[in-house]
Amino acid sequence: MSETAIERTIEAARALLGERLTTNASLREHHSHGQDTQTPVLPDAVAFVETTEETAALLALCHAERVPVVAWGAGTSLEGHVTPVRGGITIDLSRMTGILDVSQPDMDCRVQAGVTREQLNAHLRDLGLFFPVDPGTAACTIGGMCATRASGTNAVRYGTMRENAMGLTVALADGRVIRTGGRVRKSATGYDLTRLFVGSEGTLGIITEIQLRLHGIPEAMSSATCQFPTLRDAVETVIAIMQSGIPVARMELLDEVQMAACIAYSKLEGLKPTPGLFFEFHGTPAGVKEQAEQAEEIASGFDGSGFRWATDAAERNKLWQARHDALWAALALKPGHQGIATDVIVPISRLNEAILGAKEDIAASGLTAPIVGHVGDGNFHTVILVPPEPDGLARAWELDKKIVARALDLGGSCSGEHGVGIGKREFLEREHGAEALAVMYSLKQTLDPRGIMNPGKIFLN
Ligand SMILES: Cc1cc2nc3c(=O)[nH]c(=O)nc-3n(C[C@H](O)[C@H](O)[C@H](O)COP(=O)(O)OP(=O)(O)OC[C@H]3O[C@@H](n4cnc5c(N)ncnc54)[C@H](O)[C@@H]3O)c2cc1C
Repeated sequence: MSETAIERTIEAARALLGERLTTNASLREHHSHGQDTQTPVLPDAVAFVETTEETAALLALCHAERVPVVAWGAGTSLEGHVTPVRGGITIDLSRMTGILDVSQPDMDCRVQAGVTREQLNAHLRDLGLFFPVDPGTAACTIGGMCATRASGTNAVRYGTMRENAMGLTVALADGRVIRTGGRVRKSATGYDLTRLFVGSEGTLGIITEIQLRLHGIPEAMSSATCQFPTLRDAVETVIAIMQSGIPVARMELLDEVQMAACIAYSKLEGLKPTPGLFFEFHGTPAGVKEQAEQAEEIASGFDGSGFRWATDAAERNKLWQARHDALWAALALKPGHQGIATDVIVPISRLNEAILGAKEDIAASGLTAPIVGHVGDGNFHTVILVPPEPDGLARAWELDKKIVARALDLGGSCSGEHGVGIGKREFLEREHGAEALAVMYSLKQTLDPRGIMNPGKIFLN
């Protein structure tokens, strides 16, 4: 990119957006990285857009001058997704916070991309509806969640962004705007463009509006905890519960290190620093009781003990807030360390091999790395604490690669929910095969022929 091209684009963008186009140093620094350990890179400018039309017009300007563009929701992604590795303009959608339409009878809504999941749920609460996808940080936007195909603790029951995004408005690289999907629960017409853009990490277009599926707030909810003498017993319980068909709404595993971290950080009472499971059950009062009793019976068969269940909202919220704070609890174990929250998923029958293998790798590495995960889906995270030493990051990445390699060997994926960004690019060919990756790249070239959309992400080239 020549210097004049970026200067011309910034000037034209300023004419479009006024003061919402900024080259302010601290705002550029804020947009130079996400929640990751990749090397930060400053964008040349940051643009705060408020409408689809503005986003499209800005993209047309960048396309004409071949200026790179990075979409930004809240910057909470974990694999270097938002780092503008080739500079250019970061388009921040966090001011697009309109909740455009909610249909109670159809249980759906249309929102702008910058709405956060918390804002949406606060808006929906009085209507008896909720949006279930809940990554561990409240700050993330619905647009960012679509772009990373995010999920969370509820995915085992309600699905991920893949199942809950019904349609999109997308501004393409050259400034065209398309609508994908719609409001119906199914359709057999044409290619599924919604699913193409969900998980595309800002490399194909910028999502400006999302049609979302909503769910009724369950009549009754109860949470439960249970602890085990070994990690193997905890994982066997998970597998047996999934195979029994109990419709658990949440089922989260914490190894003994993560459990100790959460007890200390979130001041959890009545729990011991041993491996454990956090559950949540949704349904009628009788159904919830029955589900909890069935889960307890299965857990007892694997030496699970101390099964405690609570329907009290304050107690439930405290437990799930502790789970959502697991990353911060892990970081608090070793002040001065950074964290790499790696993310793998395997078929549920291989979960014990994956988790126990990861534990062996962690022991061999000499690093501290608690394990926590959405195990009902076969998905778990290892929070690798990076020592503040010259070789600290290299040791952490080596451990990360071993855990990912094992998951791939077991028929899994190098990311269940965090996405590819920069950090997971090297594993994609092994996971998908060279031919499939080439097809993905040809789609990228069709939609973004000048390679301006979040360059350096997903693909190594
Ligand atoms: C403490 C913590 C816990 C987390 N727990 C989870 C978890 O449980 N599950 C999970 O899935 N993730 C989790 N994450 C990761 C992160 O929250 C998700 O990836 C989230 O979806 C990112 O949303 P965001 O708005 O911050 O997106 P950003 O980080 O701003 O962007 C992410 C990617 O999407 C692109 N993008 C953003 N907005 C748009 C748009 N409108 N159109 C096109 N592309 C766009 C960006 O260019 C980038 O590639 C966690 C992160 C933290 C810090």
